[in-house]
Amino acid sequence: MKMSKLFVQTLREFPSDAEVISHKMLARAGYIRKLTSGVYNYLPLMWRVLKKVENIVRDEMDKAGAQELLMPFVQPKELWVESGRWEAYGKELMRLKDRHNREMCLGPTHEEIITAVARDVLKSYKQLPTNLYQIQSKFRDEVRPRFGLLRGREFIMKDAYSFGTSQEELEKEYENMAQAYRNIFKRCGLETKMVQSDSGAIGGNVSHEFMVITTTDAGENDVFYCDDCDYAANSNHAVSNLPEAVIDGKEYFKETKVVDTPNTHSIEELSEFLKIPSTLILKSLVYIIDKNPVLALIRADKAVEETKLLNAVGGIEIRIATSGEIGEIMKENGFNAIPGFIGPKGMKLTIIADNTVKNMKNFVVGINQNDVHMVGANLSDLGIDELKYEDLRLVEAGEYCPQCGRPLKVTRGIEVGNIFQLGTKYSKPMNAVYSDVDGKLKPYIMGCYGIGISRTAAAAVEAHHDEHGIKWPLAIAPYHVVIVPVSTKDELQMSTAEKMYKELLSNGIEAVLDDRDERAGVKFKDADLIGFPYRITVGKTITEGNIEFVTRQTNEKTTMKPDEAVKTVIEAVKNIK
Ligand code: ATP
Ligand code: MG
Repeated sequence: MKMSKLFVQTLREFPSDAEVISHKMLARAGYIRKLTSGVYNYLPLMWRVLKKVENIVRDEMDKAGAQELLMPFVQPKELWVESGRWEAYGKELMRLKDRHNREMCLGPTHEEIITAVARDVLKSYKQLPTNLYQIQSKFRDEVRPRFGLLRGREFIMKDAYSFGTSQEELEKEYENMAQAYRNIFKRCGLETKMVQSDSGAIGGNVSHEFMVITTTDAGENDVFYCDDCDYAANSNHAVSNLPEAVIDGKEYFKETKVVDTPNTHSIEELSEFLKIPSTLILKSLVYIIDKNPVLALIRADKAVEETKLLNAVGGIEIRIATSGEIGEIMKENGFNAIPGFIGPKGMKLTIIADNTVKNMKNFVVGINQNDVHMVGANLSDLGIDELKYEDLRLVEAGEYCPQCGRPLKVTRGIEVGNIFQLGTKYSKPMNAVYSDVDGKLKPYIMGCYGIGISRTAAAAVEAHHDEHGIKWPLAIAPYHVVIVPVSTKDELQMSTAEKMYKELLSNGIEAVLDDRDERAGVKFKDADLIGFPYRITVGKTITEGNIEFVTRQTNEKTTMKPDEAVKTVIEAVKNIK
């Protein structure tokens, strides 16, 4: 490819709406152009990268025994009603109607469709296990499409689905996919951690995510992990052993009574006023889950993990209640207490307590009267007969690993893929059955396995860049090498560059010749920004038979002969295949 012909427009500035490095760099280097919120054009450079990621994924999926197919992007409502997700999926599902008023949706994922496909074909145990996958655009009406390709509304995903006859078969395939994922991300030049996670809207029991560990804001997940064993989990699923288990306030409070605590609206103010540690306070938080109020109780020095609370209630959407809503809810319960003084006493709504509450004795709690708290309280003082306990707590770094007891660490991560053990979550309601050895009809035991193709490409930029631009891993770079003649008017420089270019092409190397009549500085800047793994500069030293060879990963410069440069690139590319 000649640079003068390459369909690319690099920008002088980062786009103003870009928050994270990958979005900034991919836009500025001419890889993507935004069409509308969360929807991007993949320009030729980007498309080359995406195809490379896709092909690595394809290669490993095929090697792992999966078969590729392609399902439609537009899906009929009926199948979603069968699975129960037409109601359950929430606003991310983009619903629409056709000219006959039939309801449809844009595919955010394909469990329903693949299950319908499978039940028509996989009728006997003899055909199982089977794993089918596709690589395709998905649409999710994300609340906050941001971070460019990392969280788009339209994005490319590889989604695979396995069908088997038993839990053992599923676990075997799950491990098979986990290994394929390790291979895929390694080949893409990405270091990942496999972490336990919540199963979310997809459902099922066991699931893991593959996280690219990052220190930047682009990592939307907190990952808790242990250096001493293999424990690693998303914050929405992480558990820990707390440093201190039983909390008893008896040395502070000799008896149970109601005391004045004027203007103590926060936990800090209250613990300061009473001169007690915040561990002795029972915190009560009002959430709205699918329009219903829920009161969550937790030891006040700890925070509620919203996904855990959502799962405990079995809802779809969760948010903390506004002060206006809290006012309404209090009124309905016959109180007028404001936040800071709220508690479970006398409240008629769903109440769920975190496990930390189990171990609290003689604590401090709001009793729905302003400017007072009950101290030295126990659950029996609050008129609560039975409390539902769940793990609602957000783990903190330094708490102890549930596996080995060493302190946990935390880091941020970008989820590039995940694997789920679905079991019969879809096959049962959709009556997707096969006939078993014993002649009985049984639902498939299913798994599903996703990889964000476009997100993986963006994550690679997050992991590989410097202030000058992208540093693509060779395996997914749009081109392997750029040849830059410093002066296009210099005949020797041009003829050498062209000769190398042809030689590289004839050896299957994806090379770009920067034939533009631009200053060398401009060409170098573009080369760094676009992120070609190798740059061969043909300048004045060519009169002595030398060129400059630059490796973008390290920015290391070496003087060598043109033949040697060509050989070096050919060798490097051979090694990735
Ligand atoms: P997230 O928690 O980041 O929203 P998810 O749990 O919804 O992800 P899945 O439904 O399991 O993700 O989709 C499989 C893969 O698709 C994810 O691991 C991720 O790599 C990718 N993906 C999901 N949502 C997006 C998005 N909005 N933009 C780009 N890629 C996405
Ligand atoms: Mg999501």
